[in-house]
Amino acid sequence: MGKSSKDKRDAYYRLAKEQGWRARSAFKLLQLDEEFDLFANVTRVVDLCAAPGSWSQVLSRVLIKGEKFGRAAWQDRDAKFRQQMLGLFGPQAPAGRLEPLELKKPTVELNPSQDVKIVAIDLQPISPLPGIVTLRADITHPATVPLLLKALDPEYDSKSKSQQAAHPVDLVLSDGAPDVTGLHDLDIYVQSQLLFAALNLALCVLKPGGKFVAKIFRGKNVDILYAQLKLFFEKVHVAKPRSSRASSVEAFIVCLNFQPPKGFSASLEEPLGVGFRLSNMSEKNSKNLPRGGDTILQNPETGAWDSTPISIQTADEHGITEVQLEDNRSENQNDIRWIAPFIACGDLSAFDSDASYRLPPDHVSLDPVQPPTAPPYKRAIEMRKTFGGAYGKTGRQ
Ligand code: SAM
Repeated sequence: MGKSSKDKRDAYYRLAKEQGWRARSAFKLLQLDEEFDLFANVTRVVDLCAAPGSWSQVLSRVLIKGEKFGRAAWQDRDAKFRQQMLGLFGPQAPAGRLEPLELKKPTVELNPSQDVKIVAIDLQPISPLPGIVTLRADITHPATVPLLLKALDPEYDSKSKSQQAAHPVDLVLSDGAPDVTGLHDLDIYVQSQLLFAALNLALCVLKPGGKFVAKIFRGKNVDILYAQLKLFFEKVHVAKPRSSRASSVEAFIVCLNFQPPKGFSASLEEPLGVGFRLSNMSEKNSKNLPRGGDTILQNPETGAWDSTPISIQTADEHGITEVQLEDNRSENQNDIRWIAPFIACGDLSAFDSDASYRLPPDHVSLDPVQPPTAPPYKRAIEMRKTFGGAYGKTGRQ
């Protein structure tokens, strides 16, 4: 597909180049933040599987430079518009159509701070970004955790064991994806292994109250994963930003308020996702999950659900929607399932990532902001150059 044709078919690919993002994924993080205020009260962030670095760019621009995007930018624009109106018409000034009617909740004011520390990790090299420490490491390897803690705190080595054990991180992000094979079940399995690696790492570094956001591929048994995450976080949502194609199984789990169970200690020597530690914990804690017949309420102010909306009745005159839960756990108590609330995020008027948009006649297709530094196909290209076009056909030589 040519660059121009891709610009037309993928509005976010085009916008990313126009707005200086290294990848279209930047919009996914911005849209997730719009819904969940991910960056509020956050100074220590780890961006896992970060190359080429568009999520880190978002972190750098929002947390270090204090730039505003999405809802926050709208609010600023509305406030300026209101000031102009007041200047022109005095207190009788019309509120104006830019008033933030569509805002779901007030945006938390961010204080750009010099104290922000962001560490980005990937197997691939990441080109430097202002204020970001980049590490080339494998998130599945136990040696990565101390590396990461040292990167966050240069005095880590001189600290006592108990000081080292303190978890410093407010937010762990993971946009990890393996090279997709096209074999659906295999891709989902490999992705889930990457997710468990990210979760294990997050459990080793997250502060109580911290947040964890990770890419998932929604497969058959994803509800077991939600139930497992619910052991560690007060709130677990599954979110689909508008910039993530509806046709893709990709979604993001957004886990808020990290509350490790009593007595739990994270260990990469005994990681979750391997063996039965996690399923034993799920079984023990299944009492905490909502059961069929439970009634849960939607908070009319925040729109948040106390638990899983399965069948929704219409809102009463106070705007309170009552929900009846179907029994969402299987007969087999060893097979704990829980369905996390699903939230589509991103402004409804935002571009549809599955639609094609007409380009203006004078459209100039831009080059990507950051071509991959060491893509896996680089060696294949080199070999093709060395051995000629036949290499692709004959395979190994
Ligand atoms: N969030 C990134 C951005 O905004 O630019 C895009 C991430 S890309 C979809 C997925 C990344 O996962 C790839 O760069 C890949 O190298 C990385 N990855 C896959 N397995 C990994 C592992 N075991 N350790 C570290 N990174 C890994």
